Amino acid sequence: MKQSNREELLSAAEIAGRVQELAAEITAAYAGRKVLLVCVLKGAVVFASDLMRRLDLPVEIDFMAVSSYGSETASSGAVRILKDLDSSIQGKELLIVEDIVDTGLTLDYLCKNLLSRKPKSLKVVTLLDKPARRRVEFIPDFCGFEIPDRFVVGYGLDFNEDYRHLPGIYVLKPEN
Ligand code: 5GP
Repeated sequence: MKQSNREELLSAAEIAGRVQELAAEITAAYAGRKVLLVCVLKGAVVFASDLMRRLDLPVEIDFMAVSSYGSETASSGAVRILKDLDSSIQGKELLIVEDIVDTGLTLDYLCKNLLSRKPKSLKVVTLLDKPARRRVEFIPDFCGFEIPDRFVVGYGLDFNEDYRHLPGIYVLKPEN
């Protein structure tokens, strides 16, 4: 029998339950006000699509793509925007939807960049948080799960573009 190369960390049912709870927290926080979800491509796409359908609020969505960290970005904290938002965010209530916060460099940069465009408010929801790896102080406003310092895939997260479609979240086992 073929051995699986991955170990489940969070099941699809656990994720669904937590997404429902996060949606309730966010719905309460915005109290009927319209929110613009900024989904960070590609990893957050599955989380954003599940979350938005559970929000009891007027909702808009837009997308940004940023370069994932290579060695250069990891040391400098500079992040390149590969795809920007389609329209102005001035005066809007923004909620960045991210898959995972690791060093914090990506969200630190994104928040500074988006704040310079004068939204009315800016908050961050992340499905996963790896606080052990932080290089800049960053605390998400809403967080699904804190996880240990392991590389995870599934539910939108990839390894070389594979595994994004898996319904749960898995730790990849090293190849032997
Ligand atoms: P940060 O700038 O916080 O270090 O990195 C955030 C980005 O790194 C995430 O949006 C994600 O693309 C990538 N990343 C960090 N940890 C993991 C992980 O465990 N698995 C995967 N697939 N991507 C990760």
